[in-house]
This record gives sequence, C-alpha cells and structure tokens, in this order.
Amino acid sequence: MDRATFLKKFGASLVGISFMGLESCSKSAKSYLGPSTGKVIDAHLHVDKESIKRCIQVMDENQIHYGVNMGVTGDDTFYSFMEAVNPYKHRIGAMYAFDWELIQTDRKFFDKAPDMLEKAVKGGALGLKCFKNLGLTVKDRDGSLLRIDDPRLFPVWERAEKLNVIVSFHSTDPVAFFAPWNAQNERWQELELHPEWSFADRTKYPPRDQILEQRDNVILKFPNLKFQGCHVGNNAEDLDMVDKRLDAMPNFFLDISARVGELGRHPAEKGHALFTKHQDRLMFGTDHQYRKNGEVLGAGPRRAFTKEDNDKFYQSHWRYFQTNDKQFDHPTPIQGQWKIDGIALDQDVLQKFYWDNAYNFYNLERFNVS
Ligand SMILES: [Zn+2]
Repeated sequence: MDRATFLKKFGASLVGISFMGLESCSKSAKSYLGPSTGKVIDAHLHVDKESIKRCIQVMDENQIHYGVNMGVTGDDTFYSFMEAVNPYKHRIGAMYAFDWELIQTDRKFFDKAPDMLEKAVKGGALGLKCFKNLGLTVKDRDGSLLRIDDPRLFPVWERAEKLNVIVSFHSTDPVAFFAPWNAQNERWQELELHPEWSFADRTKYPPRDQILEQRDNVILKFPNLKFQGCHVGNNAEDLDMVDKRLDAMPNFFLDISARVGELGRHPAEKGHALFTKHQDRLMFGTDHQYRKNGEVLGAGPRRAFTKEDNDKFYQSHWRYFQTNDKQFDHPTPIQGQWKIDGIALDQDVLQKFYWDNAYNFYNLERFNVS
C-alpha cells in the first residue's frame, strides 16, 4: 500500500504512528500529520453556544475528542451555554467564571460567591476560571484593585476544594504586554492590533511579578486544591521559573495554549527536559476561539478560517511536540516572526500530555468522556 492510499484508508493519526514505527526512531516530519497517540483533549479553548457544532466539526477534523471551554462569565451566559452543550457534554465541558462587576452592584457578593460556584458545579461546571482581569483590573467597592489573594475570596477556594473541582488562573500576560507600547516591543504586531492588551502603564496596572506572586500565594495556601496555570502559567518566556514553580507547588498544573511559539524559542533540549520532568502536570491546549462573530486561531485576527488554516494550526502543534524538526513556523505567527525547533517528546509522555493528565485533572470520567 502506498502512503497516499494508507493515509486515505486509516487517517492521519495512524499514519503518524505507523510511519514512526516503520522508520523506527527517526521522529521525522511525517509524524506530525496527526497526534501520534491518536486522540487529544484540548484543555483550553473558547466556544459560545451558537458555535458548538462548528467547534465539534473542527475538533473531529483534528482528533480532538474533548474540549474545555475555558470560562463562561456570569450566570445567565453560563447556564444558557450549559443547556446548549448538554447533548454534547461528552465532547465539550465548561468552566464557570464570576462576573466581578457584582462586587460593585451586590454588597453580599463575597458571601454568596461560594454558593454560586457550588450551583454551577452542580449544573455541570468543570471548575472555576479566573480570567486575567482578576489582579489586573477588577476593582473593589472603594475603587482599589482586588488582590487575587484577598482573604474574602478564601471561602471560594475552600468550596472548590470541598467540591473536588479545579481552579484555573489566567493571571497576567506575556512579558511584552507589560513592556512599553511602541514599535520596539517584540510583540508590536499584536499590540498595535490590540492596544488594550498593553499593561505598560504602571499608574494603572501593577507589575507582572506582583500579580504572579498573589496567584502563587493562593496556590501555596490551598495545597489540596488543584490549580491550572493557563498559557504555561503565563511564564513561557522563562522555563527555569516554570520549573521552579512546578517544583515548589505540586498542586499546580499547566496548559500550554497559545504558547507554542514562545516555548519553541528555547533550546529544544530544555523544552524536552521540562515536559519530561513534569510529565504528569502539563496539558495540551490551543486557545482556539469559536464565536458567532468569528474565530481566533490561538492569537491573531478574528475571522473565518478554512480547513487548510486549521490543519496548519494543529499540525504545527503536533510537529513541535512530536518531531525534532528545526526552524519551522509556529502556530501563532502574530506573536512573533521567529521560527521554532521541535522537542520530540517520548510516546508515553505524549500520551499523558495529550490525554491522561487533563482527563484526570478535570475528572472527566463523570461525563463519560472517551
Ligand atoms: Zn483563553
């Protein structure tokens, strides 16, 4: 059977495995045609209720068997999403997110918040998502910034622990978003398109390290609660720091969504070592957004994308994790024009990274995910 016929008959993922097998350990470019372990959980995507079918279509085309909708804000939006996704709950789950505006409008918000979370979990939420606005822009009633480690939020973390669900933090953003907003900024292409993503103004926004410290204070104070650090804990620029934090906080898990470009800038041996050392706590994710007003491929413009666009996006992920190819395009070129080197993870590490870790982390057995 020639390769083209084989591909047609068995699909891309098996080709990845078979050709890797046939060519023994060469880990050549061919093994990135699909995820080499066969099926994948996307631990970080975004989808609105109008786009559920489109999301599942793209997931099906790319061997994504389950996707985690990383945060639906406010009760009305959350419960209407949960109703719409109910027939597909073995394919897509959702994280609940507080509407922090309630701090301004409801004097009893902090008292009510734990019960709000419990109700959401009983309604099917996988856990609680805290978007980057917490620690960065969310205001207390007196106009000051609400700290992530504010003790009034402790009962929320305690309730999550009692309910045995996880808490996910997207805290801060890339280093470049806190650096001056000008053409010398290495993410200028992205920041010029989204000036609102610049947090360089120190009179308005706290320094990046302070926000990460507040987040870590919570993770350290609640060692029995599992936390997700979105986007490599928003620290992909510094893998030594990621390693240190994972060592110091055994309850800290990371998704790699929208950070393959950043990860791939480091020497491949370093990436390989990090993913191998912490193989039980790293999870695949893309930050793919599906909304009625358009889609976003991890980062960049919101528009409609073709199957070719999507294939390219996913294949550059598989290529990074599965091959030792050098100097190829990363999935999110708007984040920077550099090239990346693949880290060729071992098959048993990929199995955990693509599937097992997220399956256990979100306790997906309860939704018959397979
Ligand atoms: Zn996201």
